[in-house]
Amino acid sequence: MSKRPLPPGIEPISADEARRLIRQTDPEGLAALMARAKAVREAVHGNEISLCGITSAKSGRCPEDCGFCQQSAHFKDTGAPEYPMIGADEMVAQAKLAEQAGAREFSIVASGTRVSKEAELAALEEAVRRIRAETTLEPCASLGLMRRPELARLKAAGLMHYHHNLETARSHFGNVCTTHAYDEQLETVRAAKELGFELCTGGILGMGETPDQRVEFALTLRELDVDCVPVNFLNPRPGTPMADVKAITAEECLAAVAVFRLMMPAAHIFVMGGREVNLGDRQDLIFEAGADGTMVGNYLTSAGLTPEQVVAMIRGQGLAVRPTGAPERWAFRGQAPGETAWNTRAPEGDRPRLSVVR
Ligand code: SF4
Repeated sequence: MSKRPLPPGIEPISADEARRLIRQTDPEGLAALMARAKAVREAVHGNEISLCGITSAKSGRCPEDCGFCQQSAHFKDTGAPEYPMIGADEMVAQAKLAEQAGAREFSIVASGTRVSKEAELAALEEAVRRIRAETTLEPCASLGLMRRPELARLKAAGLMHYHHNLETARSHFGNVCTTHAYDEQLETVRAAKELGFELCTGGILGMGETPDQRVEFALTLRELDVDCVPVNFLNPRPGTPMADVKAITAEECLAAVAVFRLMMPAAHIFVMGGREVNLGDRQDLIFEAGADGTMVGNYLTSAGLTPEQVVAMIRGQGLAVRPTGAPERWAFRGQAPGETAWNTRAPEGDRPRLSVVR
């Protein structure tokens, strides 16, 4: 899903204005900021909300040390599942469940520095081909610091989007990860862009960064000309170095989403993981703050709302689920299944119990 053209009169805000606005967390200032961001979302992206689903195709045993991540081998007793790459059949089956739940994009996510083994690449190629042939989904993959030849193979197989989160601002990255460099991430993202992928690149807020660093991060995303920005809020995971990080406030979360929208009006802003723990029963405010997309189903190592709850949250705001490019073939029939067997590899037991449906 590529960026939208900007209607006349809508321009990205400057870095100075972004640094001023991201501090507007008092009730009146935040309400005004969100109203402005919502108006931009409506003018550029309309009143439809895109849903994205993922599958955790390979989990745990990662040699990297991202401080928020349960899947790093550097941290013990995190409780993250550990398994090798699932096969193409299971990837396709997961994609079909996501499609039934309303997703228009589906990402195959693998732990580890990168995917380079032949058998794993072949499984991904087969899954991507079949997802293109058997569903209406736009396939995406999140496979780490991929290099150009492997990315080119996946592009040839029909992969449409490449996801790689930068996680945070360059000036804060050393506090988050020490096993790879920010520039290595930029190399992967730029290679994907040059190969013609639509870029899905964002990160996690609330990892100890300052408000100015959130703006610095968004400026990098803007320079990279990303198509879609997944915004996550830290959900401190047990056993990780960030297990005890104090959450940022709901107001800070919403101000950041609104500022990202105003800085990148043409891009899709998806609010993803951590909305449950950071926004509680006001998760629907992400759309008021300018988001035009969100995740449906479970995350990699934590539970999300059920598809039914997500669809109800969107409709409760007077919004609709954005159809795929071929709505007549789309498996979503307007009624999301409640519980599914999709992406249930995430640890159970921490499914949020929220009253988002009012
Ligand atoms: S975020 Fe990705 S690269 Fe970092 S530790 Fe987790 S699985 Fe590994």
